[in-house]
Amino acid sequence: MSKRGTPSGAPPELNVTRRSLLLGAGGVAVSAPAILPAQRRGSAPRVTVVGAGVFGSWTAEQLRRRGARVTLVDAWSPGHSRSSSGGESRMTRAGYGKDEIYARMALASLSEWQSLSRASGLPILVPHGVLFFFQNDLSYLLASLDVHRRLGLPTESLDRSALAARFPMIAFDGVQGGMFEPRFGALMARRAIQTLVHRFLGAGGQFEQRRIDGTGDYPAADRIVLALGPWLPKLFPRLLGQRIVATRQEVFTFVPPAGDPWFTPARMPGWADFNNGDVFYGFPDLEGKGVKFAHDAHGAVVDPQTQDRRFTDKALAEVVAFRDRRFPRLRNAQLATAEVCQYENSSNGDFLIAPHPDEPRIILVGGGSGHGFKHGPEVGRMAAELTLDGKQPDPRFNLASKGTVQKREVI
Ligand SMILES: Cc1cc2nc3c(=O)[nH]c(=O)nc-3n(C[C@H](O)[C@H](O)[C@H](O)COP(=O)(O)OP(=O)(O)OC[C@H]3O[C@@H](n4cnc5c(N)ncnc54)[C@H](O)[C@@H]3O)c2cc1C
Repeated sequence: MSKRGTPSGAPPELNVTRRSLLLGAGGVAVSAPAILPAQRRGSAPRVTVVGAGVFGSWTAEQLRRRGARVTLVDAWSPGHSRSSSGGESRMTRAGYGKDEIYARMALASLSEWQSLSRASGLPILVPHGVLFFFQNDLSYLLASLDVHRRLGLPTESLDRSALAARFPMIAFDGVQGGMFEPRFGALMARRAIQTLVHRFLGAGGQFEQRRIDGTGDYPAADRIVLALGPWLPKLFPRLLGQRIVATRQEVFTFVPPAGDPWFTPARMPGWADFNNGDVFYGFPDLEGKGVKFAHDAHGAVVDPQTQDRRFTDKALAEVVAFRDRRFPRLRNAQLATAEVCQYENSSNGDFLIAPHPDEPRIILVGGGSGHGFKHGPEVGRMAAELTLDGKQPDPRFNLASKGTVQKREVI
């Protein structure tokens, strides 16, 4: 991009200045023009991807695989602890109720995670299985099973007595049924990003540690992908300030009883209790970090840059009350760790993979909405195809479909 106000190559009638761009000029959905085949043949397109979280890192890798010269930029290090991707573990599962698009994306992404895990010296995917269980409303379970049957997934449906026999570490009081996905499990999140970026660099990609902000210039590039996670609306407050909202999320791990094998990944799956719509979820004791618990409800709206990373007694008390009811063998378990992170929520939970409305050479990627990690490989593929070929992803991922009132639909 030119260092002057109007980006070189931008249609003159747009007359987009860098300032208007960064403030977010708003407007209609547009298509990214394809980088012409002749251009691609002559010299590989140069793409800068800003944001080395799961979306940016996979986008960089998918662009590299397609022949682009890619520089990945982050203000801090890939998968750092305050980014949304920087936690210890993230769940991968294909249970998405009627939202078949995400089931398909999770399944397509799984093979990428498996191969990254094989290439790494340490596990990245821990396939301990994923268990979802439900009280009164089984519609999510039934819709998921229907989708999984079509996708050929070996998902099991279990009634309460089967659940109790198989997973004795959980008290299934009030539960009607559950579904178990044996092929899915935990992704070791920070390790996954660091391994992926390491491989990307080994294959010829570049990484620069620097901050892109309203007063700085973008590096010279034919295209720019901005995958800034919860920081994305800070760069485009007018365009995205209400469309992507960061909320505070607190995550806790507890020390399992000494010598008790039931909380190890060999016996215990990742799980989510739908709890009549007030979802809690967690993991077994992965790599000795402790048994994880989190409340999936959106917390207070926060700024990822300034939010206080100390846990609150209120969030801990909520999780402990849930833990003691559902996992009675963990009563009085000692707190091992506490982390404060943030979701970057689109209005309904659908991702954003779209050109900037006033500067089609800029592709915006984000809105992970508390469920994005597992989809990194597929989001990266779609973003790379949009960037290089102008291929539009599903309309659910465009800007026009992003509302300004939070109404979560994708769980
Ligand atoms: C507590 C918690 C639990 C979750 N659980 C799950 C789960 O179980 N399963 C699942 O699939 N998903 C889960 N998610 C969601 C998932 O982790 C996120 O959707 C995903 O990590 C978002 O990735 P990202 O790349 O968009 O953002 P980020 O990981 O935040 O990356 C954005 C990057 O951009 C960089 N950046 C920002 N601004 C600038 C700038 N101006 N200049 C340069 N660099 C900049 C940041 O430093 C950061 O590294 C969870 C999220 C949280 C917080």
